[in-house]
Amino acid sequence: MISVEEALEKILSYVEILEPERKPILDCLGQVLAEDVYSAIDIPPLDNSAMDGYALRAKDTCGACESSPVYLAVVGEVAAGSMPTKEVEPGTAIRIMTGAPLPDGADAVVRFEDTDEMTRKSSGGDHSQIGILRRAKKRLDVRNRGEDIAKGNLVLEKGRVLRPQEIGVLASLGRSTALVIRRPIVAILATGDELIGLEQPLAPGKIHDSNTYTIAAEVSRYGGIPRILGIGRDSIQPLTEKIDEGLDADMLITSGGVSKGDYDIVKDVLAEHGEVGFWTVCMKPGKPLAFGIMKNVDRSRKRQVPHLGLPGNPVSSMITFEQFARPAILKMMGKKNIAKPIVRAIVEDNIANNDGRRVFARVMVTRRGGQYYASVTGPQGSGILTSIARANGLAVIPETSRGVKAGEMVEVQMLDWVEEQGEQKMLPIVAIVGKSQSGKTMLVEQLIRELKKRGHRIAALKHSHCGIEIDHPGKDTWKFTQAGSDTVCISSPDKLAFIKNLNRELKVEEITPILGSEFDLVLAEGFKKSEIRKIEVHRKELGDDLICSPEELSAIVTDSPTDTLIADGFKLPVFRWSDTAAIADFIEKNFLRAASGEGKCLR
Ligand code: AMP
Ligand code: MG
Repeated sequence: MISVEEALEKILSYVEILEPERKPILDCLGQVLAEDVYSAIDIPPLDNSAMDGYALRAKDTCGACESSPVYLAVVGEVAAGSMPTKEVEPGTAIRIMTGAPLPDGADAVVRFEDTDEMTRKSSGGDHSQIGILRRAKKRLDVRNRGEDIAKGNLVLEKGRVLRPQEIGVLASLGRSTALVIRRPIVAILATGDELIGLEQPLAPGKIHDSNTYTIAAEVSRYGGIPRILGIGRDSIQPLTEKIDEGLDADMLITSGGVSKGDYDIVKDVLAEHGEVGFWTVCMKPGKPLAFGIMKNVDRSRKRQVPHLGLPGNPVSSMITFEQFARPAILKMMGKKNIAKPIVRAIVEDNIANNDGRRVFARVMVTRRGGQYYASVTGPQGSGILTSIARANGLAVIPETSRGVKAGEMVEVQMLDWVEEQGEQKMLPIVAIVGKSQSGKTMLVEQLIRELKKRGHRIAALKHSHCGIEIDHPGKDTWKFTQAGSDTVCISSPDKLAFIKNLNRELKVEEITPILGSEFDLVLAEGFKKSEIRKIEVHRKELGDDLICSPEELSAIVTDSPTDTLIADGFKLPVFRWSDTAAIADFIEKNFLRAASGEGKCLR
């Protein structure tokens, strides 16, 4: 048996980077640039405005502010696409639109919002002058000629993969074509007497050929051009002929016929017509794998084509494709970065490894609370295609491991990117706000008790204006903090705490992911300035007013609910401070139920 790495290394040693071709830029997506691209122009070609506003001389705005504007004479207007016809002289300004060239004499732009343009417009006022409400520094909102790309500079170097943004850069340079490494043509042949095409009805003993389609889709996904050869039968002569049809491609991929069965003759054809490597790779699924360099049966054609013989089982075939064919295709396309993207995730199920091979387990990776989790997507038989259809990654259990237990870390090769599947949901959160001494802490305590009694898992979050006092002098963590550590974390069998020094206060939305995801509700005390939903605690003797505006509030809790001033004036639900059950009902109905209904809070 050889390792996955050894097998891959051998395969890659037989594949070469293909030659370049020149094509329209839009056909180059995902291909590798085969030329250095220099710019023949400056971008932007002229100094121009970054804002809709007034082009002026920065010096003229000296001392301008809202209460004492500087007035300039408006001497013209310039829109994007035209050239200014006038100069900006001292004491004057030219109305200018985003992207329009900066007139001579001007060295700054002040946007409309910082002028009295709107008031003039609404009062039908005088447009021959404009009031400037702020001081402008030189070059304010001016985009300099060549600031993005200077004429003569190297803009895109050989080897760059062309994504939409690089294609945009080429377009901005006025290039309609690019020289790129061409896409490999990959011939695909399924083998097996049991296989029938999709156009035929199923007959006893037969199955539809699915590998051809999985493989062809994989080839396209990674940038190759699939050429479907159809189905090869399990006897030497017709199979040899079919294989020969694929030998003007850049690579031939067959599936099936490489195990130890009586009819597994792909390897025999390879042995006869090619230089063969026939391996048992130390992986599961997908142990048997053939690789060789096929020579044409009819010797007139000189090419030698790398042939990858994948196992027939549909999942083995796809997973071996991912491990061996994908890197080969990427190498032919000139790509340097050919490893699969990997994330480290906590497994949510046990995964066994009984025979010391590298296991690729089909998993669904989700991201919750800033952490990746991988759960097995179902039966792992190598013929069960639906469990890989449900997966977005392959958890890799090394050959040296006996398996992993739920809760342990694994590396997962991503088949797709995580965000497509399970983006992180915010925990439901409600803030209890109020003036100091209004009774909000006691209300939070009562709510925690009540909601816990009802079976909810609560995270309580406290806002403090005046520093944090939980790290006690003399303790080791305190000593680490004193020594200057940026974050100090302490973990024990049943608790975790950390103190993180910050240079700005975090928003609630930034804090909740750090708490973890195993809660049904975050009950926050304070945070009156945040944008989360709030319930304000009001106490009559501290005044009639509220600290939050009513639009920001979901409800009011007060010790004088009969006070019609509050109830009628704001049309918000009003609760008696002592009626914890009613407030908890309200929270359950408006925060918990709504959130869990969308699948947000549980797991
Ligand atoms: P083989 O490697 O040829 O022994 O095939 C192993 C298993 O994969 C058998 O059950 C085959 O029927 C199945 N199989 C082989 N090729 C295909 C294919 N193209 N589509 C679906 N199943 C296949
Ligand atoms: Mg077969």
